[in-house]
Amino acid sequence: MITCTCGEPASVQWKRRPTLAEADQLSHGADPGDSYIPVYACADHALTPDAAVLMHQAVCSGPGKTAACDCTPEPLPEPDLEGDPSKPADPERPLPPGW
Ligand SMILES: [Zn+2]
Ligand SMILES: [Zn+2]
Repeated sequence: MITCTCGEPASVQWKRRPTLAEADQLSHGADPGDSYIPVYACADHALTPDAAVLMHQAVCSGPGKTAACDCTPEPLPEPDLEGDPSKPADPERPLPPGW
């Protein structure tokens, strides 16, 4: 069973960048810019859903019960202007020409 650092069962997962030492063990030819360490936490120690979708810094120690962490997460990549078919259409945005 995957648990939080406090020992409770983990219910939330997000990603952070590996430290230099971790990146050394991880890479094996993989693009280090793309590698990450999964972080698991219980509901008490979880990030907010908004923060949990972001990639956090290697130094991020995760949140406490205030649900805020102490790093500046990387912003999400710009959305594909053509639209991602795996995501529901944004109702605020008009359909592209041809629809
Ligand atoms: Zn916990
Ligand atoms: Zn963070």
